[in-house]
Amino acid sequence: MLRLTFAFLALLIMSIQPLSAAPDPHSYANHDQVRITHLTLDLEVDFEASQLRGFAELHLDWIDENARRLVLDTRDLSIESVLIPSADGPWKRARYSLAKAEPMFGQALRISLPDRPERVRVVYSTSPTASGLQWLPAAQTAGKRHPFMFSQSQAIHARSWIPLQDAPAVRFTYDAHIRNRAKLLTRMSAANDPSDQADGVDHFAMTQPIPSYLLAIAVGDLRFKSLGERSGIYAEPSVLDAAAYEFADTEQMIDVTEALYGPYRWGRYDLLVLPPSFPFGGMENPRLTFLTPTVIAGDRSLVSLIAHELAHSWSGNLVTNVDWNHFWLNEGFTSYVENRIIEAMYGSERADMERVLSQRSLELELAELDEADQSLVLELAGRDPDDGMTAVAYDKGHWLLRTLEQRYGREIFDPFIRQWFDRNAFASVSTDDFVAYLRSELLDKHPGKFRDDELQDWLHYGGIPGGAVAASSQAFDLVDGYRADWLAGRTPAADLPAQQWSTQEWLRFLDGLPDQLPVARMAELDQIYSLSGAGNSEIAFAWYIKAIRTGYAEARAPIEGFLTRIGRRKFVLPLFTELVKRGGEDRRFAEQIYAKARPGYHAITQVSVDQLFAE
Ligand SMILES: [Zn+2]
Repeated sequence: MLRLTFAFLALLIMSIQPLSAAPDPHSYANHDQVRITHLTLDLEVDFEASQLRGFAELHLDWIDENARRLVLDTRDLSIESVLIPSADGPWKRARYSLAKAEPMFGQALRISLPDRPERVRVVYSTSPTASGLQWLPAAQTAGKRHPFMFSQSQAIHARSWIPLQDAPAVRFTYDAHIRNRAKLLTRMSAANDPSDQADGVDHFAMTQPIPSYLLAIAVGDLRFKSLGERSGIYAEPSVLDAAAYEFADTEQMIDVTEALYGPYRWGRYDLLVLPPSFPFGGMENPRLTFLTPTVIAGDRSLVSLIAHELAHSWSGNLVTNVDWNHFWLNEGFTSYVENRIIEAMYGSERADMERVLSQRSLELELAELDEADQSLVLELAGRDPDDGMTAVAYDKGHWLLRTLEQRYGREIFDPFIRQWFDRNAFASVSTDDFVAYLRSELLDKHPGKFRDDELQDWLHYGGIPGGAVAASSQAFDLVDGYRADWLAGRTPAADLPAQQWSTQEWLRFLDGLPDQLPVARMAELDQIYSLSGAGNSEIAFAWYIKAIRTGYAEARAPIEGFLTRIGRRKFVLPLFTELVKRGGEDRRFAEQIYAKARPGYHAITQVSVDQLFAE
């Protein structure tokens, strides 16, 4: 406890001070004075050293004529030199200093530039433990023959592999030249040519301006399979066919989303399946969504994740939160659009079910969150922006937009959303921007449907506002009935119509099981439906949560297998949390598993689970 308290105090003292002058609470950058407009990357990917080496060249727009300094974000970077072009040709050295390292935000790189040059070049290398990169030995890949490296820049990890202004208010285009001696294929969040050969040299151009958190790179034994005219999938060879089958609807999803919200503005839309240690479900890297393999269920039942990442091509990537306090503008909009895509693709019954599940996960998470973290607009200054990645941004944000849709009707609301994307395309926006737009385009034009105090309630207070209508699903009502019959002994497990249930219906069934269910009844379900070891990761996860709570020891080995195979934080963290909560033997079991599994996890997952065991 003592160690934690000191660490926490140190964090507070160090973090708030140096950031106070910067316009973004999680960045040192002085982007109110000078801004990056374009980035050129020239990097060597060294698998032996787990290191990127080379330079980042930044094109600058000097906004403030009196500015004489460029401040960049870095974390764990070794800076070799900072160069500026000279009038007679060769680059010359610029003066710079690297501030003291701060655990959460890294180090400010302060470069003196009295002549306000148009370009500056930083020659650097990354640390093997860069928080935004994961280096996987061959053993941790599907094929087990080649190493793999991938990035995860959101929220503030881009600074651990590129020195830049790591603030979503700053947008820039980029081009990149990437080499690796392993002769593996590199893909980036840029134009990727599907016919590229794996020869260890790749070039990229991203011609639309993006914020730093959308910079992405992956290098591995990647193969391509087309899914349609403008979409396709990259994956390790052994995963490619299963992934192509699973995500076959991608091209149609793009069409459906365009019909709702206007043109897809990024050229191609490809998917890249990562090894199982990827900490998230998906990451909406523009033109190239990164995906966890845990959504390959074999039955296309988890494709709402594709709908989600695709939706980000409008909300988030096109119209971006100005800083992480407004994260709900990215994720609430995206969750809403995701649900509209699901409805258009698979019907309203499926969309209803997913909305009920979303509201249920919000309800569960609200019970655990401090009041201050329950409002849509957050105050994350001095804290890790990952703290804001809760169901509030996603599911409560979604619920607000659904509420507006219900009040105004789709004839009014759909064009309202579409225009939000059109007007703010390639811009970064705040909640105030949204509120001004909402007032002028909906509240004032159609008075009496939604009150301003309701809006304030959603944005700035905890809980769910009174006027919100809960989602409902007839299919789930039936599942609830079957569960009640089974629990009461009226229907044997074998007679449940569960073979026809969708993943969503299974999740509903499992979620409603009491935590005190006798072990024999858990065994009854398991024998008939083989839930322990289920190939569908969502169903397996929901089952393991119940197994831990009911003390169903038969599931222990499959839980261990699941936790050592998969590093997706959404699954890993709650399972460890349940085990730790029970204490005693269960906690020791969790510690044993974690000792084995931790080296295979991504740094983002490690940080979260470390915190849990330290409490
Ligand atoms: Zn998202």
